[in-house]
Amino acid sequence: METKNLPSACPLDCPDHCSLDVTLEREAPTAPWRVATVDGDERNPLTAGAICGKVRAMGTRVHSTERITTPMRRVGGTKGPGSYPGDFEPMTWDAALELAAGRLAEVHREHGGEAILPVSYGGSNGALTDGVFDERLWRRLGAARLARTLCAAPGGAAAAGLVGKMPGVHLVDYQHAQLIVLWGVNPKESGMHLVQVLKRAVAAGAKTIVVDPRATSIARAADLHIAPRPGTDLCLALALIGCFFERDWVDADFLEQHTTGAEQLRKKARDWSLQRASAETGVPVADLERFAELFHAAEPAVVRLGWGVERNRNGGSACAAILALPLVAGKFNGPRGGRGGGFTASMSRALPIDREPAIGAAPVATREVNINHVGPALCAGDDGAQPIFGSDLTPPVRAAFVYNCNPASTLPNQAAVHRGLARADLFTVVSEQVATDTCHFADLVLPATTFLEHAELSSAYGTTYLTLARPALDPQGEARPNAVLFTELIRRLGLEQPGDLTSDSALAEQLIAGMDLGADQRRELDETGGCRSAHEHATGQPAVPFVDHFPLTTDGRAHLFPPALDAEARASGFGLYDYRPDPASERHPLTLLSPAIGRLTSSTFGESLEGQIPLVMHPEDAARRGLSGGDAVRIFNDLGEVHTILELRSAGLPGAAGRDAPRPGTCVLPKGLWGRHTQNGQTSNALCPDGLSDLGAGSTFNDARVEVEAL
Ligand code: SF4
Repeated sequence: METKNLPSACPLDCPDHCSLDVTLEREAPTAPWRVATVDGDERNPLTAGAICGKVRAMGTRVHSTERITTPMRRVGGTKGPGSYPGDFEPMTWDAALELAAGRLAEVHREHGGEAILPVSYGGSNGALTDGVFDERLWRRLGAARLARTLCAAPGGAAAAGLVGKMPGVHLVDYQHAQLIVLWGVNPKESGMHLVQVLKRAVAAGAKTIVVDPRATSIARAADLHIAPRPGTDLCLALALIGCFFERDWVDADFLEQHTTGAEQLRKKARDWSLQRASAETGVPVADLERFAELFHAAEPAVVRLGWGVERNRNGGSACAAILALPLVAGKFNGPRGGRGGGFTASMSRALPIDREPAIGAAPVATREVNINHVGPALCAGDDGAQPIFGSDLTPPVRAAFVYNCNPASTLPNQAAVHRGLARADLFTVVSEQVATDTCHFADLVLPATTFLEHAELSSAYGTTYLTLARPALDPQGEARPNAVLFTELIRRLGLEQPGDLTSDSALAEQLIAGMDLGADQRRELDETGGCRSAHEHATGQPAVPFVDHFPLTTDGRAHLFPPALDAEARASGFGLYDYRPDPASERHPLTLLSPAIGRLTSSTFGESLEGQIPLVMHPEDAARRGLSGGDAVRIFNDLGEVHTILELRSAGLPGAAGRDAPRPGTCVLPKGLWGRHTQNGQTSNALCPDGLSDLGAGSTFNDARVEVEAL
């Protein structure tokens, strides 16, 4: 057996973008290379050799029997579950591209470019796979635009408004913090490198507070676990801010020097006493008091803002208030701050890749469909559609082109998504690596490469690290990278222009040139396939916010009450920091949470997750309904229903019976499941509303309210 090792990097939708060491093997010099193992390596200082189990098993996906290895076209049957591959037959790439280009041209000619809806999201965060070659095609074709706000949009809008998305505290600096607040984040399942960071910090004496409606293992080990009702984080953060102002625990000098809007924020926070916040969040006043006291006393203290906070009607304001807390309390630079103090949200502005100059087409003002509204958009017919806030549903969609995502599983209002995708008159292309739920709705399925089979340039959003990876092995079967797919479609549609970059290596070079890297960084990137920020190169340490860099706002200050955010929030009826009440009803009183699980990255790797996935419920809620663990249950609301088994967990119980237990009134079915993981082929998204958050037009998955009964 011959083996070789190659460096690579993970561009999946995960914050840390691990650097990888891939071992390939082959049985004879003429045999194809296969992935033997995937390990972490030390190049990325944060990930430092540790990777998750799912990418460690990446060879399983690359060589999966469920891998799509040749183009397949529908030759009959009804679109929907069970259709792929029985209703399909193989075809050549040439014929597949002719079919795709021909149908796109036909729709364009007869209905206009806006009748074409590209549907993509997060299957790769790499710039060579997402956002350049594809965007060039859609802009030149005048296709509808997709607002891709499934995740990070409310938090991103809040961070942009408050600090211009200034990179926050680097995770490696948590070792200097006396107090670490993990708010709506569970690194045991997502962004795993924070676990080691925490261990080191706790060993050095740091205390931890975890805010999570579930008793995750991190929460159970914390000095204080705050378990608010989902969607009430805003009340909690405002009450803490109000308490800080009232007790004069704010850093007046810092506010004066580095912020605007403190008085407007104070007025909003004044409405939320600890007692009122306790009533709304379900958190005892004593715990809120303790939170305030611990946070006030710690020098420095840091807040890690996670993605669990934002997935509801109040998500944007909640994120803004949580980011405001360390600013108000002077936890950045000052007597109560310093290295390791402040907040961490997205680090995407640390080493940003500007795709825009490489696209080769100016932005277009075609109609926009919010990704949360793909279902209603696909269902809107010739007779018009009910107007919907945040999306333009006219004209009807005649062609959908799906890549880098699995909308049949991952989008809210799943019944509408399935109904729309099942339309016989909709031409749907799905470019995929393995046979996902969406493939069953396709007219044409195209085989796509995994990240080990194409080059990729990506910048981490959870740390400060840029990666450039060469292909580790040849594409499996006839799989093709997006760069080839979209360049070929552009050519066949006659949309190519002089000067178009058509190779991924040339594109990578152009994107890197646009990043203004220093000579040391460029050398590191060329020699190792990754590089750190300029500041880390120069000093050996991460940059400290409000010392080494400042908010990326026009005046360099943090804006605690940005008028633009207030105006945006008011467009849907409430102002910035105004609380929108719980949508629970008598018929649907339970909150359904759909958090990430470590075995999936969104829905990626669903083919490797075996068995039925249970609904997890608190024993008190089960007893009220006469339910027992192991029962088959129907989870339902007006949008749909999911059938699965029931598992009971309570935070007071040891071991598995207490693991990740939800607070009473809240039940849990993870996100990213495929139809195969439940009894009726529906997933949590069958129950999730398609309403939008207050800021950023983001998803509101955690506003799902349901009832549960025995099947
Ligand atoms: S999914 Fe996340 S943890 Fe796993 S290898 Fe990729 S970046 Fe690392």
